[in-house]
Amino acid sequence: MKITVHRGAGEIGGNCIELQSGESRILLDYGAPLPKIDSATRKSVQATPEETILDIPGLYEPAPAPLDGIIISHTHQDHYGGLFAKKISPAVPVYMTAAMEELIRLTAQIPRGGKDLDATIRHYRKGEPFMAGAFKLTPYLMDHSASESFGFLIEADGRRVVYTGDFREHGNKKRAFEEFLSADMGKVDLLITEGTQAAIPSGPSEPDVMRDIESLVAGRDGALYVMCSGQNVDLLSSLGGIAEKQGRFLVLDGYIVLVLELLQRLVPRKSGRPLQIPGIGKKYLKIINTSATGKIAGMPRYREICEAMKPHLVSWEALNANIGRAIIPVRTSSTGWINKHIRDFSGAMFVYSMWNGYRVEAAFEEALRFFKAKGLPEFLIHASGHAYFSAIRKVVEARKPRRVLPVHTEHPGNFAWAFGDRVTVLKNGGSLEI
Ligand SMILES: [Zn+2]
Repeated sequence: MKITVHRGAGEIGGNCIELQSGESRILLDYGAPLPKIDSATRKSVQATPEETILDIPGLYEPAPAPLDGIIISHTHQDHYGGLFAKKISPAVPVYMTAAMEELIRLTAQIPRGGKDLDATIRHYRKGEPFMAGAFKLTPYLMDHSASESFGFLIEADGRRVVYTGDFREHGNKKRAFEEFLSADMGKVDLLITEGTQAAIPSGPSEPDVMRDIESLVAGRDGALYVMCSGQNVDLLSSLGGIAEKQGRFLVLDGYIVLVLELLQRLVPRKSGRPLQIPGIGKKYLKIINTSATGKIAGMPRYREICEAMKPHLVSWEALNANIGRAIIPVRTSSTGWINKHIRDFSGAMFVYSMWNGYRVEAAFEEALRFFKAKGLPEFLIHASGHAYFSAIRKVVEARKPRRVLPVHTEHPGNFAWAFGDRVTVLKNGGSLEI
């Protein structure tokens, strides 16, 4: 089997790894490079289609040996964004879960002039092996900051490869990580592992984050604003839990509620129990009428869910009357409606719960300045979405791979230091044979 890392070898983002067995080829992820920060404006600039498109035979044009599939591990743009740069050949099936397809389609339609996903989609399910060309793939649910994230055991040629996708062990799906560690995968020839946080041995977990945020609001009055990603379901769930315990309410826009509701409906569970995430029916949930709420209300595809949201809708008046009990996840763009509608900031607090590197961007700096000017104390409380090095070490110790290929990392040297000459470090475009 031949493995080629087209992108994401010595960098974070833009993952695309090709596996070839005989004439059969598949791609693991087709991500867009992460946005860059323009040094003059400090604005975040998305990768252009030209920077995103990879020249891989069969991806866009017919090739003598067809491409047998693209396997998408999760719904972060640096793992699927390549699907939107240019229409890929309909002859190439793209594998993802049903929930991932729905979320990717929704996210793509939200910006002005949004697009739809134009590709041949096939669904895989947790724990159910499927074939793509000569490759047999078994998806394992992973713990990650994306709503649903998968690693894979990939078998062909009598060889076994494990691809972690993005993962961690310290989130709310810790049990998924433990199941991944204890699963019997046989003798593994190659482990392809992410290493975004390979320079950090250990750090806070999602339960730590929940405890720290709860300690800020317990016994106090005053709104809590939390800057976080709208798709960080673990954190949103923690905030919902805090709202429930502390007699507060969680204030979300319709877009975030829609994401949560789609997950609740589409993520299959053997137990039959609902996912422990905020959503329609929770007493503490309040939905505000932002432009995002208006936008999804106008999308016929989500009419039924938007109807079900109605009992949770609150007016700005009602929110202002109870602002001291509110927990409000925010994005940089939220300062517009906060400035326009919220009157009272007394006793309020601000928590920054994202990667610290974003803070240098103009939009973040502006938003942070906004909350500071309102007199809010700022607390940094964050658990990384990615594995600390201690978790990567656990994967290597459990799988005992013959070889290790780090990807999605700026610290490949840490792998060679820890795991010796089993480790192969590639540059983009580089290959190895197993
Ligand atoms: Zn990710």
